[in-house]
Amino acid sequence: MTNLRYEFAKLRTDFFLGGIQDRYRAGKPIPPPGYVIWDCTRRCNLNCLHCGAVKEKYARELSTEQIKGFLDQFAAMKVGMFAVTGGEPLLRRDLAEVLFHAHKRGLKTGIATNGFLVDQGAAEWIKAARVYSVQVSLDGLETTHNRIRGNEQSYSQAVHAIELLNRLKVPLVSVATTVTRNNLPEIDELRQLLPRLGVRLWRLAVVMPIGRAHESNLCPDMDQLIWLLEYVKQCDSSELHIYFGENLTFLGEWERKVRNRPVFCPIGFTACCIGVDGNVRGCPEQPDTVENREGSLLDTPFQEIWHKGFGRYRNRKILDTDPKCADCKSRGDCFGGCWVMRTEGQHCIYEMIPEASLP
Ligand code: SF4
Ligand code: SF4
Repeated sequence: MTNLRYEFAKLRTDFFLGGIQDRYRAGKPIPPPGYVIWDCTRRCNLNCLHCGAVKEKYARELSTEQIKGFLDQFAAMKVGMFAVTGGEPLLRRDLAEVLFHAHKRGLKTGIATNGFLVDQGAAEWIKAARVYSVQVSLDGLETTHNRIRGNEQSYSQAVHAIELLNRLKVPLVSVATTVTRNNLPEIDELRQLLPRLGVRLWRLAVVMPIGRAHESNLCPDMDQLIWLLEYVKQCDSSELHIYFGENLTFLGEWERKVRNRPVFCPIGFTACCIGVDGNVRGCPEQPDTVENREGSLLDTPFQEIWHKGFGRYRNRKILDTDPKCADCKSRGDCFGGCWVMRTEGQHCIYEMIPEASLP
């Protein structure tokens, strides 16, 4: 049966992406990003097996005044949302001050956290700063989560954080789960648990082949991936909406059964990332290396970087230079996949599941 909701959303998405590409080619200004993600620190209080954030060491982090100045630029440009990730964002002592400032400037805000440091006091300032969205990581049931996170209290702290934030009625408290071979058997029980914690949105993403996960054999194999897609396909979304992460941008025959709208890599279209020391790159999952940087906010206004940078993402030359994509019938659906997954050759559903058929 045709998924009409999906097809309408696809028309809108194609129109939007095509419009940005045309504007970029014509040298016209690009609409402001829907969200800017601040990779605020690489410090973390936990030690996760699959962590992607172990790539770089920084001599210094942005100061409070520097990030507040950048927030003023984002607000003036009418950026939609300012989301903070890390490392563990709550390790920055100035996080409350920064997010209050963002709210005062009219920016919608969000935090991605492991939840460990969200005690009553933190939950109260998060609520008072009108933080719209808090995403807490939960990677399995108690034993598995604690093993993955390397801390015996990490599960109970994360669950406590979710309960506190929901009790204070923070508008969107979601859970993010990185799917690996380790937690796949617990996915169903986890799904049953989340509504009981008051969670309505579950972000599921297959582990990325970066950071510590690069060395470990954590990625689900083909049969496990098929199981996961079949599982999500049959889930009832009325009590818990599952967002299947855009690092698998296209799911072949499962695409329109697992999703109600297409996803795409948002870099340069709706999103970008500010790195720990002010360099701008595509997304937090990319290493903060010279080749991934579009410019530095320390010497260039954000507006200029946003309008002039990100050419490689906007022009999508990859769809012609990658011979497989050039000949692929699904290139209009897939758009070439996730840039980070691509670095390890795990960006293509037809490579991961050779028997996958067209949608
Ligand atoms: S060949 Fe390229 S465009 Fe086609 S599904 Fe794979 S990654 Fe996407
Ligand atoms: S590179 Fe991958 S993880 Fe990063 S924004 Fe794009 S799809 Fe998402």
